[in-house]
Amino acid sequence: MAIIATDLIHLRRAVDLAREALDDGDEPYGSVLVDASGAVRFEDRNRVKDGDETRHPELEIARWSAAHLTPDERAAATVYTSGEHCPMCAAAHAWVGLGRIVYATSARQGATWRAEWGVPAGPVAVLPITAVAPGTPVEGPVPELVEEVRELQRRRFSRR
Ligand code: ZN
Repeated sequence: MAIIATDLIHLRRAVDLAREALDDGDEPYGSVLVDASGAVRFEDRNRVKDGDETRHPELEIARWSAAHLTPDERAAATVYTSGEHCPMCAAAHAWVGLGRIVYATSARQGATWRAEWGVPAGPVAVLPITAVAPGTPVEGPVPELVEEVRELQRRRFSRR
């Protein structure tokens, strides 16, 4: 399945949520859950600033889906996210049986930027979603949004 115009609209929203997180003192990540009919069912952004480093939007989406969607609805849903799921979130996505993922920028791109800016690596291995959740259809990065996400990440690390 290729990236189409509606994918870009939802990804655009995920990046806007990432910006909202950054402006509120959190790390710039945002995600949107869209069902098979194209309706946005849930969205969130990073909320780690108060000390819980697991408050990633993709993990919140997995938990929300488990509570509110049937297994069939989860399998037919798509998660749009500004940055590729980390291994924790990729595992949660697969455990609850969610479907396709579309990300604007890859984990590898994020790691490359950190290295370029002299930022130490994080505590969790940088792995593609497919290494953790091999059955999940994945698409990205999406060139139209890469520069914008890179700039949000640059701002995140430059204020530390
Ligand atoms: Zn995560």
